[in-house]
Amino acid sequence: MARCPFAKWVPLPEQARQPAVKIVGAIDHSIVGSAASALNYFRTGTSLESHFIIDLDGTIYQLVDTARSADANRRANRFIRGGKAVGYASIETADRGDPDNQEWTSAQVDALVRLHVWLQKTHGFVAQKCKTTTGDGFGYHTLFGAPSDWTPVAKTCPGRARIAQWNETVLPRTLEAIKAPSGPTPTGGFLMALSSDAQKKVASDVAFSALKVAHAVNLLDPPDDEKGPIPDRIIESLSRIEKVLKNMDSRLKRVEKALPPEGE
Ligand SMILES: [Zn+2]
Repeated sequence: MARCPFAKWVPLPEQARQPAVKIVGAIDHSIVGSAASALNYFRTGTSLESHFIIDLDGTIYQLVDTARSADANRRANRFIRGGKAVGYASIETADRGDPDNQEWTSAQVDALVRLHVWLQKTHGFVAQKCKTTTGDGFGYHTLFGAPSDWTPVAKTCPGRARIAQWNETVLPRTLEAIKAPSGPTPTGGFLMALSSDAQKKVASDVAFSALKVAHAVNLLDPPDDEKGPIPDRIIESLSRIEKVLKNMDSRLKRVEKALPPEGE
């Protein structure tokens, strides 16, 4: 049994009858509509199902246990590999009906990354972009074209804007989070907060301003005019500032020691 601890469990009527699989990867989709309509559609309108739906606000619903197959990815739902029944987890995402132009919200990106990491840690497949339609890893519905072994029809799922986001942000962040020794999920802490693009931008601006201040009080060389790529630049800037602050702190302590106690 595998239920995601940070997903809302809303099982489909047929979920307990779905055949068992070992999950070897995850495939991301767009539902072309809202999470509520998707949930309703899967409940009543179809024999298809998806393991997860992620709403615009990042809420994750789990509809099928990931020890069982869900039918959203044609031949990838369940197949025999090395004598074992294996399949991919499917993740639908809400999109206001226009996934070609509607990017994933930053809450959806965070949820996708968190869910990808949980799936990989729980099921132990190789953390990579899928190289074939039967290989371990992460993919999106039309990664191998449409139609393909993953979809019977021509479509753009999860949509043009989202495919660009997937390659630029979702996949790199997923792989980075899986590699991180400190744990699977991008929650809490200043450096972890750098993981969302918006927060990276804010952090970059803050670091740049701090560099300018540090320069103004003759602590550091002037910052470059260009802010440069993130996050290496931010981390470098922050660690320089941190060193300066530590240095100032220890100097201050030495000065304090040298002064007579207050009140004398
Ligand atoms: Zn799809």
